[in-house]
Amino acid sequence: MHIILFGPPGSGKGTQAKLLTEKLRVPHISTGDLLRDSVSKKTALGLKAKAHLDDGTLVPDDVMIGLIREVVTSGPAKKGFLLDGFPRTIPQAEALDLLFEELGMHIDGVISLRVEHSEVIRRLTDRRVCRSCGRIFNSSQLRKDDPGKCPSCGGDLYQRSDDTVETAQKRLDVYVRETKPLKEYYRRSGRFIEIDGMREISIVQNEIVTILSQKHSASS
Ligand code: AMP
Repeated sequence: MHIILFGPPGSGKGTQAKLLTEKLRVPHISTGDLLRDSVSKKTALGLKAKAHLDDGTLVPDDVMIGLIREVVTSGPAKKGFLLDGFPRTIPQAEALDLLFEELGMHIDGVISLRVEHSEVIRRLTDRRVCRSCGRIFNSSQLRKDDPGKCPSCGGDLYQRSDDTVETAQKRLDVYVRETKPLKEYYRRSGRFIEIDGMREISIVQNEIVTILSQKHSASS
């Protein structure tokens, strides 16, 4: 099953994908995680992407389309994925459709998480990420005895450098301008399902699981 998780930054795509990937054993592909990894390893991709990640702008389409082609045609992602953070522009969505057509595969659904913009900024600036397991937490979930350690694996938590108020606002503006128009693109193709992402993590997760199992039984 090939699913796109869609929504503004901070809508919970990464949180949901990280929980669902364990539950459903479907690979989670986050273009943001891939780019951050490339930046820390100082690869050619990382060098091209760094300035964009730092200032909250989008990495150019040709770079992202090349990256996604590599990921989709390699190993585990061929059989299925939860795609988080791609596509972010109409040219990226068109390139993904072409790539899938070329490979004789299709995107089964686009699940969009709807979250108010004020909540997006609140969540982004409150977010902590584990350096070891990659899990995402908010301040209410942190350990009282040691808020700097991951409640799940004990690894060190950090705040992403693009989760400051200023860069978070810029990323939201970029989303509204460049990414939000994709809702119409996917709605037209009948693959778009929007759900309320303002609710508790477990409730949103259950709704996604229900949608995916309905899709699975419809296709088998
Ligand atoms: P994320 O972790 O999804 O919030 O992405 C972090 C940053 O990575 C974004 O602000 C962009 O600079 C870059 N990025 C991730 N995915 C894409 C994409 N599909 N197109 C362009 N830039 C991206």
